Amino acid sequence: MDNQSKYEIWFVTGSQHLYGEETLKQVDTNSAEIVKGLNEGKKLPVQVIFTPVVKTPTEILEVCIKASASTNCIGLITWMHTFSPAKMWIGGLKALTKPCMHLHTQFYRDLPWDSIDMDYMNLHQSAHGDREYGYINARMRKNRRVVVGHWQEETVQDQIAVWCRSAIGWADSQGLKVARFGDNMREVAVTEGDKVEAQIKFGWQISAYSPGDLICYMENVTGKEVDRLYEEYESLYQVADNCRPGGVFHNNVRVQARYEMGMKHFLEAGNFKAFTTNFENLTGLDQLPGLASQRLMAAGYGFGAEGDWKQAALLRVVKTISSGLNGGSSFMEDYTYHLDPKNEAVLGAHMLEVCPTISASKPRLEVHPLGIGGKDAPARLVFESATGNGMNVTLIDMGNRFRFIANTLEVIEPLEQMPKLPVASAFWKTHPTHAKGAAAWIYAGGTHHSAFTLALTPEYIETFADFADVEFVVIDNNTNLDSFKKELRWNEIYYMLANGLK
Ligand code: MN
Repeated sequence: MDNQSKYEIWFVTGSQHLYGEETLKQVDTNSAEIVKGLNEGKKLPVQVIFTPVVKTPTEILEVCIKASASTNCIGLITWMHTFSPAKMWIGGLKALTKPCMHLHTQFYRDLPWDSIDMDYMNLHQSAHGDREYGYINARMRKNRRVVVGHWQEETVQDQIAVWCRSAIGWADSQGLKVARFGDNMREVAVTEGDKVEAQIKFGWQISAYSPGDLICYMENVTGKEVDRLYEEYESLYQVADNCRPGGVFHNNVRVQARYEMGMKHFLEAGNFKAFTTNFENLTGLDQLPGLASQRLMAAGYGFGAEGDWKQAALLRVVKTISSGLNGGSSFMEDYTYHLDPKNEAVLGAHMLEVCPTISASKPRLEVHPLGIGGKDAPARLVFESATGNGMNVTLIDMGNRFRFIANTLEVIEPLEQMPKLPVASAFWKTHPTHAKGAAAWIYAGGTHHSAFTLALTPEYIETFADFADVEFVVIDNNTNLDSFKKELRWNEIYYMLANGLK
């Protein structure tokens, strides 16, 4: 993944001149200590930068304009230590284009029972100062995350960290370039969508190329580069005997190594962070890029099969948000079910393209013929997913808006071995139950494709959706199908009217 160390979150404390210089100095000192505590807590994936207390509409506007213009600042944490009359914030909040979190905390955790007097009360006013600030955010229909609790508490810092990670994803999303090799799979509906709207909402720049554009890059890959890559495969994977030098499929592996290197050069030259392929658009290519796509996903690129640019960009966002966390993330497809009523589960996989970051053990490198597409037998990595809690998340185009759908799940060990399955897979139980989870997903219009992650919870995606002001629905252990269907209906009305309220 790219170096994200340049990113900053600015900590902005609101007040006013009413309190006098002494008090305001104390506010600054306390804020600086909170910033220091947040940075030293080591929970946050990004540096928090202290900014001096703002006391006037001009100071507020200035810091919001500076934050919006800064290439390093990816969001604001705001806090009203004292009372900051919120009309002062209108201009600033109107100008602010970066994510904004509201930290509802207080400098001291406990009341000083023996010594508390009105001076103490007048310095520690966030209990009502933050309510005044909350009102103007609500009045201006500002999407924001409100985190409540003492700033030293681990659970509070964990919540701030979730928001910071989502803000990193949002920063990466702005100008995220997606290369599409070929178009969508013909006649498929759910992989289509409004690319102009995606650029307006998420910042994604989505452009199509023909496989011929790639082939130039592939032809320029030297035999030495292929040799080097093959050696890397030998060191990372269990390479099947017939794929080794002299084996009947060795050349098929070398073809994929050439694809991988050519695609990487293409993506780097254009600064692309995600890509799609389509087995219907392979003119000039002997194989569908399988191993190549898997390896590029593992390197941090978003990927979507069959031209699915929405999942490609979404997977890149998921990989960016989860960078540094435990658990991998992959392009995924609900493939086949195990429908034993006592043990219903989903076998997720794809034709080839599942990311090895989710693998439970050393992947096997194998070559098998592909049942569809009429091309050469492609090399691919075969493995089973690590177990544990995870999530499928998808993005669909509803015509008048985008909708994120997240469904929590638990990956379990397959009930038996699958010796003839020639692809990577994950076996999971959908929350809350197979019947309710799958029904909710289908009522919501969820894709067969998703970004599958063992690293994130729905909260990250909800936060990201808030930044974009886009619909988000979650299917988890608390989901009641009747309420969920009503939520979808109510959201329909909300999103029809919401733009008129702003
Ligand atoms: Mn597919």
